[in-house]
Amino acid sequence: MTDTLLARFVRYARINTVSRPDAGQSPSTPGQWDLLRLLESELRALGAADVSLDENGYLLATIPATSAKPSVPVVALLAHVDTAPDFNSENIKPLVHKKWNGRPIVLPDDKRQVIDPARFPELARAKGQDIVTASGLTLLGGDDKAGVAIIMTLAAHLLAHPEIKHGPVRLCFNPDEEVAAGMDRLDLDQLAANVAYTLDGDNPGEVVWETFSADQAVVTIEGVSTHPGDAKKSGMLNALHLAAKLLVALPRENISPETTDLREGYIHPARIEGGVDRTTIKFILRDHNTAELKLKGERLRGLCAGLQAAEPRAKITCVIHEQYRNMGDWLRQDMTPVHLAYEAVRALGLEPTSPATRGGTDGSRLTQMGLPTPNLFAGYHNPHGPQEWVVVQEMEQSLQMCLNLLQLWEQKSNGYKGRPLKKKRAAKARRRA
Ligand SMILES: [Zn+2]
Repeated sequence: MTDTLLARFVRYARINTVSRPDAGQSPSTPGQWDLLRLLESELRALGAADVSLDENGYLLATIPATSAKPSVPVVALLAHVDTAPDFNSENIKPLVHKKWNGRPIVLPDDKRQVIDPARFPELARAKGQDIVTASGLTLLGGDDKAGVAIIMTLAAHLLAHPEIKHGPVRLCFNPDEEVAAGMDRLDLDQLAANVAYTLDGDNPGEVVWETFSADQAVVTIEGVSTHPGDAKKSGMLNALHLAAKLLVALPRENISPETTDLREGYIHPARIEGGVDRTTIKFILRDHNTAELKLKGERLRGLCAGLQAAEPRAKITCVIHEQYRNMGDWLRQDMTPVHLAYEAVRALGLEPTSPATRGGTDGSRLTQMGLPTPNLFAGYHNPHGPQEWVVVQEMEQSLQMCLNLLQLWEQKSNGYKGRPLKKKRAAKARRRA
């Protein structure tokens, strides 16, 4: 399976699938269609069932059940086809370092780019394995082409080996995860799964079931603008000064991203725009504990109210929008999807780890929408920049873990409910190969 997995990864990584924020269309860029259409034709050639690519760029397919048991849950596996807009992704040249010798990897197209195992212990431990990097001028896009290649290779393997017993498996390749629009237009009734996993993580053994809960706050400060020449007489009130006051009043110790780690949340002023008459500050608020997140919102509102009281002539508003929620808030109620993933990891001879992610995943949204979706490792490292790499053997481990996992669901999951299916969908999903 190694060569196929590697060949697939390299083939997909070469396609520029960068996503763009605020594009107003899905997918946000045409390059994502190129990969989606390629995957669609490959899935058809492999003999997958119900292959469909919709007008918003969601590619779905089914691997029909091989188990005769009637009640095995429908498990979906997801990976996103887009790559991050943070760094150049034009003309990606994946380089394979077979049986890597353990020395710093100098990227040939920009020799200042050196991936040094002294700085990355997760690279150092991969000595002797097969590493793929970019060439120095682009990112690699292992996030999440690794996940895409693993799911495609898994599909090929399962379709060629009907003796492996599993329930119905749904595959989903989606656009625009990196610009936080990955799940915006996914129809969960169309996906028709009881439980799901994203393959969008790094280190072998990682099973992530806790993410941040996230809100955005927009503070708008309206001042009084006059000609600066007679501002004293005409009573100028400068919104910029008020914005500065607000930022200074916001403590940084233990509550900003730069001073927090692990399970500590933060209030982060991410963007400021405006002038004398009107200034807007956008904050992002993060905490693993959703109740604590709400308190952070209250704290910010309190600071705004204080500023308003001190300057009655200004008009200050603070509007808080929910972005996503910690998937653990739901998964804790039934840990079956997590415990089976742990078992699938242990069957590889690895001890599972579950760091609480300081961010969100597509699964945060899905879980909140009712489809339990932990995130599994895919073997990519240091993503979103030129010094990114994947370890082929770690992608293989991820593939093997998925095989274990689907068989465990077949053996052990009787009675698990997860997200209920619509009747017609349920009947269709249960139809066997
Ligand atoms: Zn990703």
